[in-house]
Amino acid sequence: MNKATHLIHGAHHSATPRPSVIQLAIKEKSALYAAYMPIFATGGLFIPTNRDYQLGDAVYVLISLPDDPQRYPIAGKVAWVTPAKAAGNRTQGVGIVFPADEKSNALKLRIEEIVMFTDSHCHLNFPELLSQLPAIRQAMVQAQVGRALCICTTLEDFPAVHQLALTYDNFWATVGVHPDNEGVKEPSLDDLLSLGRLARVVGIGETGLDYYRLNGRSVADMHWQRERFRTHIRAARQLAKPLVIHTRQAASDTLQILREEGEDGSPGCAGGVFHCFTEDAQVARQALDLGFYISFSGILTFKSAQNLREVAALVPLDRLLIETDSPYLAPMPYRGKTNNPSYVPYVAAQLGQIKHMPTEEIAALTSHNFDVLFSAVMG
Ligand SMILES: [Zn+2]
Ligand SMILES: [Zn+2]
Repeated sequence: MNKATHLIHGAHHSATPRPSVIQLAIKEKSALYAAYMPIFATGGLFIPTNRDYQLGDAVYVLISLPDDPQRYPIAGKVAWVTPAKAAGNRTQGVGIVFPADEKSNALKLRIEEIVMFTDSHCHLNFPELLSQLPAIRQAMVQAQVGRALCICTTLEDFPAVHQLALTYDNFWATVGVHPDNEGVKEPSLDDLLSLGRLARVVGIGETGLDYYRLNGRSVADMHWQRERFRTHIRAARQLAKPLVIHTRQAASDTLQILREEGEDGSPGCAGGVFHCFTEDAQVARQALDLGFYISFSGILTFKSAQNLREVAALVPLDRLLIETDSPYLAPMPYRGKTNNPSYVPYVAAQLGQIKHMPTEEIAALTSHNFDVLFSAVMG
């Protein structure tokens, strides 16, 4: 990070009781990504230095961030020391923890907006994840996965999904009934409207069409799925909240029903995201033409997914999202294991290779896209 970070040290602290002053000019997002220490609840930064600091030393840091003329003063404390010749060839330096005040918190939020990953689709209410939630939340902090959208698949499960979003301020929820779910409560328009208006419910779904498991039926027999999908689209349009769309072996019907219901990308449309995208370039183009975003999961990292990587190369940067769809579809190198939101950076890294961009740029832009699409997360 030395090239991209400029450091000026003030007077040595041991010569004077006043705290030492460090000016830290972070010029590139990659440097900020390397420096930020999410392990500190109030925020913190790693500062490379060969000076001899002790834990608890007061340090006054003047920080500037990439593409931001402002300088942020922080009256921090040394809370981490990496000594010279540390194991793993780690850079010598100190971790400065921010104080718990409003100004520092604003800086922390600003940094996190730049560096964090957002998992736009996960099923944390599923028992194999819910039972591990404290460990998963800790792993998310370590991996700089700042936020996750908890996706609803039945009305019966909605209270548990919603509870996650009410309990944790970096989780949000959707409401909807997955097309694969039969023998569950069929959602009425009124059900979706009333649940969709609740606090921290930011989208409608997952919904869509799935002709993969016909179980001996014909596509014509799946009329009930198409009706269910239309109900979700109507709710999303009335609520002005985006749709989370699942489509499998049903792309042309999915696109046609969206058009028939008025979802053509014109003003007043709900819009939304085609989640866990596995379709071809032609379907991607049509979804983009209707104003939808495209979200890639761990499938993008699979060796066999060369065609999908070529599709991802065509998706504009301002329409990309990333997701885990956990507990399913763990990315390489965890393929076959239980997935969780802390693995979403592997999807971002793969997208970075495809787009010839650093992973942290993919993190920043997909987090920004998430805010734009699910605009209720900001309110
Ligand atoms: Zn799905
Ligand atoms: Zn899902």
